[in-house]
This record gives sequence, structure tokens and C-alpha cells, in this order.
Amino acid sequence: MIIDLHSHSTRSDGKESVTEVFEQAALAGVNILALTDHDTTSGWDEAAAAANRLGMGFVPGIEVTTRAKVGREGREHFISVHMLAYLPDPNHSALAGVLGDSVATREIRAKAMVDLMAVDYDITWELVLEQLEPGATIGRPALADALEKLGVVANRSEAFDSILSKHGGYYIPTETTNVFEAITLIREAGGVPVIAHPLGGAPDNLDRGDLPQEHFEKLIAGGLAGFEVYHREVPEVARQWLLSLAAKHDLIVTGSSDYHGLTGKPNRLGENSTSREMLDRIIEMASGVEAQL
Ligand code: AMP
Ligand code: ZN
Ligand code: FE
Ligand code: FE
Repeated sequence: MIIDLHSHSTRSDGKESVTEVFEQAALAGVNILALTDHDTTSGWDEAAAAANRLGMGFVPGIEVTTRAKVGREGREHFISVHMLAYLPDPNHSALAGVLGDSVATREIRAKAMVDLMAVDYDITWELVLEQLEPGATIGRPALADALEKLGVVANRSEAFDSILSKHGGYYIPTETTNVFEAITLIREAGGVPVIAHPLGGAPDNLDRGDLPQEHFEKLIAGGLAGFEVYHREVPEVARQWLLSLAAKHDLIVTGSSDYHGLTGKPNRLGENSTSREMLDRIIEMASGVEAQL
């Protein structure tokens, strides 16, 4: 039984339609898949139909864009935190409002990045929009696709490694919901908040003293339900540290691919997975919408 709880479609920044994502998941031997497009639930109906047709299970989810203030007073800064929300009520108005705000700020931010990039490249906002399905949540991948169209890069990964990286000279962070507010709203909407790829990208030789225990424990006190420990971007040292923190607080631990399509990102459906026991805990905790198993 392969349970993969994190995937993206063209409703946000994946390269394949919702139906295609489920078809690829079936080919990869995935039995239960969560669709977790950034800041939107617009793919859920299509996902339910595709899963039904293919004899698969579907877990409705969202990857909510949030940020956290970290550091000591005077030296505080924001870090981006992706919060997976499983089984929330999509009609909860405050949560829906936050998602709408996030989509709007993402667009303002993407436009501002395009303005910066247009000084050095032939990129235009129109070309970026051509890379997106109407109504899709925008992110840097749409800018990468535009750069690929222009022949500036060969693919998304090349763009993320250079022009679109945080240090590429054109990066602007997305100003979005505070992570504590997001956790509270997801809970209010009957959903289960799980941090996506926690400490993702941290160096593998991380010193245990570097790990922000205080920050994570505040999130847990605020209602955080679990960690996506098994994700290709979470280094081994961080995994061990997160697993012991999860054990200490009896949290949910998940594993997922974070698939963005065959040509979107190297991540492959089913490359990491979640145990049935952990999925059952998510289902038990949730009261927003039902999983279709
Ligand atoms: P943003 O949220 O707009 O800052 O863009 C980051 C998003 O791009 C994350 O969700 C990544 O998973 C996604 N992404 C898609 N394809 C790639 C890629 N090839 N390399 C890095 N990130 C990617
Ligand atoms: Zn993404
Ligand atoms: Fe993410
Ligand atoms: Fe993701």
C-alpha cells in the first residue's frame, strides 16, 4: 500500500492536470494520493472523479503559504513555512479568505519579480500568464516556464538554480499569513496542519544546537499536528531530530513526494510514503471534509 500525501497539478504550479497526476500516480503504484495545490482547493472535484475512476483513494489537501518570524529581538526575520492542511472544510470563510489573500499576494510578488527580471531578460507578464491555466495559483515555476520559453534556461530546475534562486538577484519573498494564524484557521476549519518539508534544504551536517527547538515547540503548542519528515529535501540529521520531537509530543509523521509533474521537478510519485496508521490518525483528527478511500 503506497500512500503519498503531497502533490501539485496545474491548479497551482504542477505541470500536469489533476487527472493526469492521478493517472501518473496509478502508473507509479500509488494507492492513496493527496492533492495539495498551493493555496487552492479548486482541483478537489476533478481529483475525486479521477481517483474514483482509477480505483484509487483521494485525500483532499492544500499547501498553505505562510511565514514565521524567527530570531531574537532586533535581529528578527521572516522565513517561509509551507503548511499542509488535510481535510479542511473548503467553505470555511476565514480560511478561504486567507487562501484568496495568498493567491493575490503571490500575483503581486510574481509581477514585481517580472519587473526586476525584465531589465535583463525579454520576459513579460503576458508571457508568464500564458504558462498558467486560468485561475491557477502562481509561483516562481511560472516564471521558470517563461524563461524556458525564451530559451534562457533548459528547464525549471536550471532556473531555480540560477536566476530564480533566493540569491539570484530577482528574488522577492511572498508576504503572507503568519504561521500561527494559519494553524489556528486550519484547525477551525476541521483540518489537520502538518508542516511540509520541515528544515528542508538545511545542510546535512547540521549541528543539533542549530535546530530551533523553541520555535517548533511553540508551533506544536499552537496546534500543529505533524511533520512531513520523509521528503527528499529534509536532510537525514533533521529527520532524526524531527522524529524524536514528534515522539515526545505524540505527533503525526508523514512522507510524500511533492510531485510537480514528470518535467516539473525530479520528485517522483510514491518516492516517499505515509503509513496507514498515520493516515488514519489524520482522518480521525479531521472534521472538515471526508477522505475518499
Ligand atoms: P514560490 O512558492 O513561488 O517561491 O516557488 C517555489 C515552489 O516552486 C515550490 O513549491 C517548489 O516545490 C516549486 N518548484 C517546482 N519546480 C521546481 C524546481 N524544478 N526546482 C525548485 N522548485 C520547484
Ligand atoms: Zn509547488
Ligand atoms: Fe512546499
Ligand atoms: Fe509542495
